[in-house]
Amino acid sequence: MKKLTVDVAVIGTGTAGMSAYRAAHAQGARTVVIESGPYGTTCARVGCMPSKLLIAASDAAHTLDVAPGFGVHPGEKRIDGRAVMERVRRERDRFVGFVLESVESFPEADRVRGHARFTGPHTLQVDDHTEIEASRFVIATGSTPVVLPQLQNVGPGIVTSDDVFYWDDLPASVAVIGSGVIGLELGQALSRLGVRVRIFARGGSVAHLSDPEVLHAATRTLSAELDLHFQSEVVRAEQQGEEVLLTTRDALGKETSERFQYVLLATGRTPNVGKLALEQTGIALQAKGVPAFDSRTMQCGNSHIFIAGDANNELPLLAEAADHGKIAGENAGRYPDVRPGLRRTPLAIAFTEPNIATLGKSYRQLCEGGRPKFAIGQVSFENQGRSRVMLQNKGMLRVYAEYGSCRLLGAEMIGPRGEHLAHLLAWAVQAHMTVPQLLDMPFYHPVIEEGVRTALRDLAANLAKGANHTDAADSEPGT
Ligand SMILES: Cc1cc2nc3c(=O)[nH]c(=O)nc-3n(C[C@H](O)[C@H](O)[C@H](O)COP(=O)(O)OP(=O)(O)OC[C@H]3O[C@@H](n4cnc5c(N)ncnc54)[C@H](O)[C@@H]3O)c2cc1C
Repeated sequence: MKKLTVDVAVIGTGTAGMSAYRAAHAQGARTVVIESGPYGTTCARVGCMPSKLLIAASDAAHTLDVAPGFGVHPGEKRIDGRAVMERVRRERDRFVGFVLESVESFPEADRVRGHARFTGPHTLQVDDHTEIEASRFVIATGSTPVVLPQLQNVGPGIVTSDDVFYWDDLPASVAVIGSGVIGLELGQALSRLGVRVRIFARGGSVAHLSDPEVLHAATRTLSAELDLHFQSEVVRAEQQGEEVLLTTRDALGKETSERFQYVLLATGRTPNVGKLALEQTGIALQAKGVPAFDSRTMQCGNSHIFIAGDANNELPLLAEAADHGKIAGENAGRYPDVRPGLRRTPLAIAFTEPNIATLGKSYRQLCEGGRPKFAIGQVSFENQGRSRVMLQNKGMLRVYAEYGSCRLLGAEMIGPRGEHLAHLLAWAVQAHMTVPQLLDMPFYHPVIEEGVRTALRDLAANLAKGANHTDAADSEPGT
């Protein structure tokens, strides 16, 4: 068995692990990164990038679908599934190539291949070939799709998002299980590309929304286009030749069986901490076996172990993984001098159309601990000028501010170009801007941002009233 002694061992070479490696190395610490799977990161190989490539193809198809609404008739639409998937894989491989170049720029001696598990508070074993003794560790092991017990060992027709981006062709039909971000993004994209898609969700949640008004608008908007079945449970599935016979049960207890080429599981992801033998380290574990950690420093208790990215189950998003990795790596590098790092305003976007986005404090967080003490402003995009011009007049934005200080606290939305509106508002939250300051900002005409102004004006009026606002407000036509 090979033996290595280092200052910092980083477990996982995804976005968080690579960021941690660089940060620890920059502190002058002798650092190694360990990887059990293929290099290339979840984001580039099977996450953010290929999903957005598939969505981009579906946007192109959808443009043709909506063209007649403008009096433009593009003729017969033909979707070449092989060409769609070929571009997704080709561009994905290009992005992965950049990551591989980056990993390969780390000295070979700093890269260890194999599955790492703790054998003591300061020791790791990698497969059965290497023992690593380190003074500090960063756990950056990512997450894995959850597979429902009733769908385990059914056959090749049960897939997760890890499989979709290796398809050679678009399938004929897909049942998507889950109405979270991944289920909705992939379900809508496949549907717009001509795949027969049916989405089943156990509850009534949509992406990461918690505001009941926005949730209602999202359910209505998405259900108008997608075959969405809420309050539906998966009973069983059986592989029958090239298809899966899926049986689901609705809220009234009625069971329905239907065949699909694939059943795509999008029922969440679980942090990869179960196979690390964390019990050997003595650190305290919380829900899902994730170590208790300080989200400002990424330190697990008072220990020499830090945790970053999806592995810590805080906010499983790419930008967070990169930030966590930097904070964890810097702190591991200069341990015991542990310092809080930069945590930005939370921002999450589902690239459905319309986009769904949340930022800052969520409605649920603001309602925690009793009677809500914040004001709400809102706008419906149904009558918003520029949104109507573009035939994208769907959805709703709700913005939240603190009484007294009038500071913007957060927002939830489903609406056109939501990805951009969410950035503007997240920057304003992080800059501690007040609602009057935001209303002093320039607004061009005619733009979707005028819808944000309508919501902010509504919010200003409700702050002035000093009362909570829950009724639907009409948006001003044309703004
Ligand atoms: C379909 C999909 C779409 C997404 N879209 C977006 C998006 O649009 N925007 C966004 O912000 N986020 C998105 N995400 C989330 C984003 O991809 C993740 O939050 C991010 O990639 C997590 O990075 P990470 O470094 O924590 O994990 P990873 O990149 O998964 O890295 C973890 C690494 O650790 C390795 N590993 C695990 N256990 C061990 C072990 N014991 N020993 C050695 N190595 C180990 C794994 O093999 C893996 O390479 C998406 C995710 C998916 C699945």
